[in-house]
Amino acid sequence: MAIDSLFKQMKADGIDVIGFGAGEPDFNTPDEIKAAGIQAIEQNVTRYTPAAGTVELRQAVCDRIAADCGVQYKPNQVVATSGAKHAVYLALRALVNPGDEVILPAPYWVSYIELIRMVGGVPVVVTATEAEHFKLSKEKLAAAITPKTKALILNNPSNPTGMAYSREELEDIAQVCVANDVYVISDEIYYGLLYDGRKFTSFASLSPEAKELTILINGVSKSYAMTGWRIGYACANDRIAKVMANYVSHSTGSPVAISQKAAAVALSGPQEKIEEMRKAFEERRNYLVERMNRIPGVSCLCPEGAFYVMMNLEQLIGKTIQGVEITDDDVFADAFLKKGLVAVVPGAGFGAKNFVRWSYATSMDNIREGLDRLERFLAE
Ligand code: PLP
Repeated sequence: MAIDSLFKQMKADGIDVIGFGAGEPDFNTPDEIKAAGIQAIEQNVTRYTPAAGTVELRQAVCDRIAADCGVQYKPNQVVATSGAKHAVYLALRALVNPGDEVILPAPYWVSYIELIRMVGGVPVVVTATEAEHFKLSKEKLAAAITPKTKALILNNPSNPTGMAYSREELEDIAQVCVANDVYVISDEIYYGLLYDGRKFTSFASLSPEAKELTILINGVSKSYAMTGWRIGYACANDRIAKVMANYVSHSTGSPVAISQKAAAVALSGPQEKIEEMRKAFEERRNYLVERMNRIPGVSCLCPEGAFYVMMNLEQLIGKTIQGVEITDDDVFADAFLKKGLVAVVPGAGFGAKNFVRWSYATSMDNIREGLDRLERFLAE
């Protein structure tokens, strides 16, 4: 937050800063989806909908998940929410009693840890190192389970690391969860953004036992460039879906009717635009990773999905750059913004000390210029 507000202030002051903090696609919502929203208003789709979302949207979710992930859900097992973030909150709300433990692999998306705390749960952070490709192993998972463990939050592909789990890795995790009756909140919001021809495996597709314990989280924000429309969804067994829908009913009432209409069109319409955006992200990733790894002092793993890169700063710790002693990722990010005129996100907030996150949801020109600036910043 500190880096972001400084970045915005510098921009407002007319300074030529470049931001790599974005958590949303820089593309516009495709035209046919926008048209569906406009048409919804014109046709007076402007009233309350069922709490769990319209049958049209929930059926579109079922069809999309069946086609893309090979998992069968019924509309009554789907809860449409005001964004995937809200779906994660409702899943935790439905599962967690005060004092229950929720296992959270680090590096993690910042909201998870706060959401666990908001429902009175206890986050149990299990760190996966860069050498482990930032992925939770079955051994580490098994070691973290106690009689109080209620759930695991798994984000695949991951924000902030961009790493994706293979089917075999997920099967190992599922085995441990099924043996210990641990629910899995599987946040698959980046499932449409995988690179190098990788095939996505949804946690619920692993086995009927895994599906019974899964609360699948997804939404239209990332794959369809629809962050502001605020539509996400959860798929779960009948009992959990019902509890989550009750929470929607008595809090937000339902997601926005107009957005639900547009989301249904996004999910059920032609998917070519999605592939165009995915390809553009892959090209940017290739360029960013290749250049970053040629710059002395920093390095990164090649992310397999999403639109983030974690840059490793360990070699810079203790060095003085542009008159600033780099003691950690916060200090680096502050100096890189003030003196290098580039905003990146410090890793500490993600549970990843001595890393910073770059988002490549920005133009190729910005990526080129950002890396030129990194080179100049480190060279002096
Ligand atoms: N889950 C993850 C891992 C995310 O990175 C984000 C957004 O940054 C979300 C969920 C939130 O998505 P939505 O816009 O649908 O709430």
